[in-house]
Amino acid sequence: MALALGIDVGTSGLRAVVVATDRRLRVQCCHEYSQGEAAAPPDWPRLWQTGLRAVLVAVPRELRPQIGAIAVAGTSGTVMLCDGAGMPLTAPLFYNDGRAQAEAKALTALAPAGSPVLSATSSLAKLLWWRQHLPAEIWQQGQYFLHQADWIGAQLHGHLGISDYHNALKLGYDVGALRYPAWMVSLGLDALLPQVIAPGDAISLITPTMARQFGLPRDCQVCAGTTDSIAAFLASGAYTPGEAVTSLGSTLVLKLLSQQRVDDSPFGIYSHRLGDQWLVGGASNAGGAALRHFFSDEQLHHLSQRIRPDIPSSLDYYPLMQPGERFPINDPALSPRLTPRPERDVDFLHGLLESLARIEALGYERLQTLGASPLQRVYTAGGGARNQAWTAIRQRIMGCPVSAAAQTEAAYGAALLALKTLQ
Ligand code: ADP
Repeated sequence: MALALGIDVGTSGLRAVVVATDRRLRVQCCHEYSQGEAAAPPDWPRLWQTGLRAVLVAVPRELRPQIGAIAVAGTSGTVMLCDGAGMPLTAPLFYNDGRAQAEAKALTALAPAGSPVLSATSSLAKLLWWRQHLPAEIWQQGQYFLHQADWIGAQLHGHLGISDYHNALKLGYDVGALRYPAWMVSLGLDALLPQVIAPGDAISLITPTMARQFGLPRDCQVCAGTTDSIAAFLASGAYTPGEAVTSLGSTLVLKLLSQQRVDDSPFGIYSHRLGDQWLVGGASNAGGAALRHFFSDEQLHHLSQRIRPDIPSSLDYYPLMQPGERFPINDPALSPRLTPRPERDVDFLHGLLESLARIEALGYERLQTLGASPLQRVYTAGGGARNQAWTAIRQRIMGCPVSAAAQTEAAYGAALLALKTLQ
């Protein structure tokens, strides 16, 4: 049994990746939630269950008996309330659901300043929202509060009430002390909270029924999962302090592997635990959304080939789509700066890419000033990763090697997490 399976549960479908012990990708498969299935209002847990079965079946039959470990990555902050049998009592609340404003505000009286629970989208605020708003007879049946990845994992190993400390960060779990903090006791929610273990640690063998149905080995180990964005980081191959991954999507997201933990709520910086290291992250509102506002992807591709990355542009922009920035500059009123626009599009794009590279460099500087390990190398993910001119500009400005991440699939990162139990 030399293979590990990673599963990523996304918003449009599920992906599965099989890796060998040499980390090489053997197979990847996906399942998209079909339009018919997704008719409003979608029964998400059923779609996830159907998707899980579909990706397991899509793994070639001859490989399945060799799968020794499985881990699941789910969307951070997508949560479920289930009865004693693991049946959802109400529709899941999704990662971006911000209805728990009042609950997040009430938590400021208990949680330390800067705690990730102090946001309307935090798992804890959502749980409190359910207590406040669900009919009493539904709330009283609740026995397990789970994250998406916990629940999908439980479909495989059959044990409810277990989570990992990546998913549990926004639930209030203290990842430094590895326990729920004392201030959470007064909330009276203890009975619902999952037991939290390290991502990738073995939870239990796969259930005999699942093993039989899908031709998986009886001693296939199901491991604690992680969040989709940490799985994507793991996929990049970064593993020593100072290695970082920048995601150049609609926004700029920075993650730096560090020996020291850094948390700074005004800048929206917080740290995930990765074994005995820390994954320090920050996100800027600037990014590819501004590029897309002015140029199509095709234009970006062609114009970028005409940029001379070694020659500095004299332009200094701050490409935001609306006022307000948190990281690396904390200024809720910061105005977008997108003028003057030169005559030639290629010059304008050069200025935009260089300005975004300066924001990225300032971001890493900020993380280091606050105590993170010195930046050594940057891997890149997201739509901008393939832009070679931009890569060269970023390398010049940040003064360290910059390259595209070899892998960016969260399912691949989840498979690497599972692989640890086989080594
Ligand atoms: P998200 O998932 O955040 O929407 P993606 O990772 O899919 O983002 O990346 C999309 C972004 O990538 C868009 O904002 C687009 O402008 C940008 N993009 C696409 N192609 C290029 C390119 N060749 N150079 C720079 N940026 C690009």
